[in-house]
Amino acid sequence: MLSRMVKDGDTFIVFDLEWNQPIPGKEYGFDVSALTGEIIEIGAEKLVYSGGTLISKGIFSCDIKPACYRSIHYHVKKVTHKTNADLAKGIPFPVAYKKFREFMGDDAILAGWGNSDPDMLKMNLKFFGLDDKLGMFFLDVQPLFSVFSTEKGRQRSVEFAVDYYNVPKEESFHSATSDAKYTAQILRNIFDRNQTSEVLSVISSSSVNCDIKREYTTVGSACERAPQALSMVSGFNCKCPVCGLPFEIKIEPFRIRKSLYALYNCKTDGEFFGRTRIKKNKDGKYYAAAVLRFATQPDYFLVASKKEEFEKFGSEGEPVKKEEPAEDGEDVATKSTQFDET
Ligand SMILES: [Zn+2]
Repeated sequence: MLSRMVKDGDTFIVFDLEWNQPIPGKEYGFDVSALTGEIIEIGAEKLVYSGGTLISKGIFSCDIKPACYRSIHYHVKKVTHKTNADLAKGIPFPVAYKKFREFMGDDAILAGWGNSDPDMLKMNLKFFGLDDKLGMFFLDVQPLFSVFSTEKGRQRSVEFAVDYYNVPKEESFHSATSDAKYTAQILRNIFDRNQTSEVLSVISSSSVNCDIKREYTTVGSACERAPQALSMVSGFNCKCPVCGLPFEIKIEPFRIRKSLYALYNCKTDGEFFGRTRIKKNKDGKYYAAAVLRFATQPDYFLVASKKEEFEKFGSEGEPVKKEEPAEDGEDVATKSTQFDET
């Protein structure tokens, strides 16, 4: 995967978005799948890389007045504590984005917690008829944190990482600006507490071009038995989602509990991380949900640590302690899924 080298003087824009959602059942006069969230706040901190550390160069904070979803979704209200009156105080999205671009400059590396924010930004740009090409690389700090903490292969919340590094909690979470500032602190800690060369190496093989689709998913049809459910997605897993040519298998699929992991290679498009989960629907039938994505450094760590677990404990995996989540942990606490619970 094409990557971005970091050198002295490079700028990181650590950003976070809050977005409102359509009220279920309400008629909007357009296809809501083209705007699954409307951005209501952009927060960011600018960091400049110099001699192995990151120096803060300013904060960006902007409230946006939604044009489509003007009344706040109860779940968004619960998380952000914003009211309808707060939403009305913002500025229009195109004006806010113009200011944000000015703040970013031309050659920054975007960074954020979880990979949903760049996609949400692009969705809003496209919906409102603006140029949705960001022309930048994006670094997901969440898997980066898991590589450099003892939390390998787990997806943790911003607050978990803040506690891990003993960052003072002076502001509440779940405002775009405070979350961006906390994420910036986590990124600075990753630099300050680890070997610079190692951090730079992982970052350069983890940053992805925002304008390329990184992740491909499919869901197989429901079956009586798990192996059948898996065979429903085997076609998806055997060829490159970009060019359609058959994959070379780098790491043969292996199963730990309800997930299969694999590493593939396309001669043209590079390496892909594959994970297939076996799930049960409400009728008790099995189905498989498969993901293929351009492999980044955290994916190599994940697949290597799972492979090690598989070789030690087999498909049952390492015995899980009671208080730990029974699933693999990752993907459970991402922002994109957080709002989907009803
Ligand atoms: Zn390909």
